[in-house]
Amino acid sequence: MSSYNYIIKYIIVGDSGVGKSCLLIQFTDKRFNAGRELTIGVEFGTRFISVDDKQIKLQIWDTAGQESFRSITQSYYRGAAGALLVYDISRRESFEHISTWLADVRRHANPHTTIVLVGNKSDLDESKRQVTSEEAERFAKENGIALFLETSAKSASNVEEVFVKTAENVYEKIKSGEF
Ligand code: GDP
Ligand code: MG
Repeated sequence: MSSYNYIIKYIIVGDSGVGKSCLLIQFTDKRFNAGRELTIGVEFGTRFISVDDKQIKLQIWDTAGQESFRSITQSYYRGAAGALLVYDISRRESFEHISTWLADVRRHANPHTTIVLVGNKSDLDESKRQVTSEEAERFAKENGIALFLETSAKSASNVEEVFVKTAENVYEKIKSGEF
């Protein structure tokens, strides 16, 4: 497909190892790669979806290794209509860092950017869980985050939902002239 009505930029942020690249690959290629693809530099993914009969080209930016150096540049954030803040439900620390990632996004992205909280690796055994969905839900509400979902890049649970619901939220803003 080559024609579309809108092009929407997403960024994915969060600690290294939470599954950002796997979420991107699951959404764009519908596969899970268990190996760790350590790439330095920003990488992209694209996929077309339709919202309200409109064709939307999603251009998704992945930090690809730079998150550990906190060297993400302003150009990464610029023009992002959607921002996925990802933590790993089995790694408490990655959830505690979400407030830092949120501050970064709020500082550098557009004030209308749709911010979404994503608790990844929901396929893991409950005994591995270090963050309850209730507290993440509460954090999202308290911080004005549009949407919270737990996902699994491995089983593909909620992956489609998180990317599509973000686009629906952005599309509402486009219609109302905020973008
Ligand atoms: P990134 O550094 O945030 O891009 O994380 P990666 O996408 O490279 O994933 C880090 C590690 O977590 C890899 O070993 C993946 O196989 C694993 N992983 C990613 N997503 C999931 C998931 O949903 N469930 C499970 N069990 N493992 C995952
Ligand atoms: Mg990565």
